[in-house]
Amino acid sequence: MHDSILISDNRINHLSVPKLFSHFQLLSQGSAIPEGWLKEYALAIADGWSLMHARDRIPEVYSTYWNRIVPPNGYWDGAPDYAAYFGDGMIRLANILPESKLAEEVDEWLYQVLASQEEDGYLGAVDPPARWHQWIDVFSQSLMIEALLCKYETTRDKHILAVCEKSASRIIEAFGQPEEEVTGTIFSGHGVITVRAMRALYKATGNCDFRDFAVEIMRRYGKQEEYLRWCMCETADPNTTHDPVSKNHSVTEAENIGFPAITYEISGDERMLQASIIAWEIAQKYQMVDGQLNGNEFICKCRPRSIGEHCTSVEWAITNEELSRLTGDVRYADAVETCVFNAYPGSKSPDTLTLAYMHSVNEIVASEWSHPHYDDHDGEVSKGYFSTAHNPLCCNVISPRQIPYYVENMVYRHGDGLAVALYGPARIATEIAGAGLVKLVMDTQYPFEDDVRFVIDVDGDVEFPIEFRIPNWCSSASFELNGNPMEVDANPGTYAVVRRKWQSGDVLRLHFEMPIRLKTFPATIVRVEGVAVTRGPLVFVMPVAEDWREYEIGMVGPGKPPKPWMVGPGKAPKSFKVIPRENAAWNYALIIDRDDPESSFKMKTLPSDGLSIPWQKPTIGMEVNARRVLNWGAEGSKEHPMTPGLPIAPMRLSEETESVTLVPYGCSRLRMSYLPVICALEDCCLCPRDDR
Ligand SMILES: [Zn+2]
Repeated sequence: MHDSILISDNRINHLSVPKLFSHFQLLSQGSAIPEGWLKEYALAIADGWSLMHARDRIPEVYSTYWNRIVPPNGYWDGAPDYAAYFGDGMIRLANILPESKLAEEVDEWLYQVLASQEEDGYLGAVDPPARWHQWIDVFSQSLMIEALLCKYETTRDKHILAVCEKSASRIIEAFGQPEEEVTGTIFSGHGVITVRAMRALYKATGNCDFRDFAVEIMRRYGKQEEYLRWCMCETADPNTTHDPVSKNHSVTEAENIGFPAITYEISGDERMLQASIIAWEIAQKYQMVDGQLNGNEFICKCRPRSIGEHCTSVEWAITNEELSRLTGDVRYADAVETCVFNAYPGSKSPDTLTLAYMHSVNEIVASEWSHPHYDDHDGEVSKGYFSTAHNPLCCNVISPRQIPYYVENMVYRHGDGLAVALYGPARIATEIAGAGLVKLVMDTQYPFEDDVRFVIDVDGDVEFPIEFRIPNWCSSASFELNGNPMEVDANPGTYAVVRRKWQSGDVLRLHFEMPIRLKTFPATIVRVEGVAVTRGPLVFVMPVAEDWREYEIGMVGPGKPPKPWMVGPGKAPKSFKVIPRENAAWNYALIIDRDDPESSFKMKTLPSDGLSIPWQKPTIGMEVNARRVLNWGAEGSKEHPMTPGLPIAPMRLSEETESVTLVPYGCSRLRMSYLPVICALEDCCLCPRDDR
């Protein structure tokens, strides 16, 4: 299994079969292949933005594949991490979509990257005089090592492994040099991502040097002690105390929360796992209802209009996938689905070509003025508009990684069986000890339906267990085998185990009871409270009729000349502002019986034209009665409307009661997630009620 050991003869003394500490184990790359809507979406991402757009329009990450730059002190522009992120997405997408156009092109790109390695092992990225002075250096190289090792896993091409080992050895060497020559802080911040590359190398080679180096980076630059200390000051008031998660860069923090757990996986040091768990728990109060960490670059308190960065949704889902696999705890997988089915598609156009760098869960306009960015150092006013190439480019290049990571983490190996952690249409083929080749098809429209059918294909009658995640958001779940009800312990928040002698053609149906749950944003002195409606992993929102308008100038907003590297020899990227259509109606208060929300909503199937792409037109919706709030409209000016806060009390309501349809968050680019509520019983939401 660890055939790479053979090629590292020079270091054979250090080598062993790597010892890993993990509840579940990943299947090998390429074992899980998306189907149905998930395949359509992944293909759009692979052959859409990743291939066509990058090839035609972003020479930085594609044509020149590895942009050697001299980063100015403290900031970077056209950074090589873009190419590394792009490579990671590209290789993983090719592994789950072997028939895509992207899979045909990936090798050519990859071998250019391999050829860029220098004599001393340096891979990529920064011009010689600027090396070893800031985090962009090891960050980019480490991302690329991890990406290349994904390719190594499917090809066992020893050249790829040799390049990665050589590059890693150079990084380790740099780490040991005196401070005057190498700035130690290059390993802090994003640079800590080196632990992921070293874990991947340890897994591939069994070389303990890589493991020990990862542990040492964390010892010096990890945040585990900060996280662990927080646990000890339980008496501190979380509202006034600066916790170790808030005010940090949201993308880096989303990564940081997972790093201690990664070190646990290779060292077995349980304190490290504990540190990640504590940090995750702290982070819950910064989690937006759409599943991503909130933060205008820097993590801060969530409000309906506060914003989150697209990158963060991807890194946060990856951290949750790690924790799901390492701990076997259902809550992390729940968090992955919420993020991947809401925040991610909701801030991306359905054709997957454009995305919003910043978005909010209540948003009636996504434009160059809608989401004030904390820092205008690059002259931009806002990053709320949708573009094929934002500046910085981080969100666009990180985005394609979301779906392949999701697919890789759907099914794990556990003991002598399998565990299904994430749901959606896919097929899995893997070897299980004692059972041989096992194929599992997940036949479902999930999350747009409440059932998942598992079709099993095995060689002869073989007995092994399959575990199924029973999410915390369902009230109960039930199983049927070949049409007959089955007694299975299926408690929300646990994995249900089905152990039997499987036969080819067995169909196991898993049904989730998904009650409607309301999430409240409390009233303030002037504004009424808002309620977001969730069912299963989906948030249901009031869609705002969208008017997409292409920018006429530049690609990064008005008054902003494009960066030279963005123009390059490629075609200009495209940008759109999305504004509400004339007379778009969204200012509703929902009429809900809060003691029995089920009774106020009616789930329905929406007419399909059969042509729409995933996350474009909703196929399901939720009918509810509502009244317009007459004193609630857009803020700002007519030319530059802005999303308002929740209505100011008292609300003036229209006489008329209308039936409105809420749709899945991911099917909207403009939406109101938190809406005011009118009590269905008293027809009045302004009187204080004890049970709120
Ligand atoms: Zn970003």
